[in-house]
Amino acid sequence: MSDHELRVSKIRNGTVIDHVPGGQALNVLAILGIDGTGGEQVSIGMNVPSDRLPAKDIVKVEGRELSQNEVDVLSLIAPDATINIVSEYDVVDKRRLDRPEYVKGVLACPNRNCITTDDEPVDSKFEVLDDEVRCVYCDTIIRDNLTEHIGN
Ligand SMILES: [Zn+2]
Repeated sequence: MSDHELRVSKIRNGTVIDHVPGGQALNVLAILGIDGTGGEQVSIGMNVPSDRLPAKDIVKVEGRELSQNEVDVLSLIAPDATINIVSEYDVVDKRRLDRPEYVKGVLACPNRNCITTDDEPVDSKFEVLDDEVRCVYCDTIIRDNLTEHIGN
């Protein structure tokens, strides 16, 4: 087992999100809805040397897999991330991310009058464009500060 594999597979069962751009680890946790209050076991490596990125973050979450909605939003802030599924300390599956056409849930529409921000049980849905995402319900655009809108 290589050094690299040892580093990513130290959890027993769960998910290791590797090759996250340096400084984005906490945003990854926000996407997963993890704030420490749920008792999740999480370990984070920040600004770890990487051959593919100037510096990378690694997030390891014990006992948790990512939903497709979470993976989709993750791909917007960490397009080069790798998702490693770990079972009994082994990486059993490794996925790269595709840029989705739409992201659902996870992001909240900044428009207070948007139907998705009401009490109505309507999940947010954004169309993914080149440099921005657009709410399919009210056309509000989120461009630069995507991570401020995590938390639907
Ligand atoms: Zn909206």
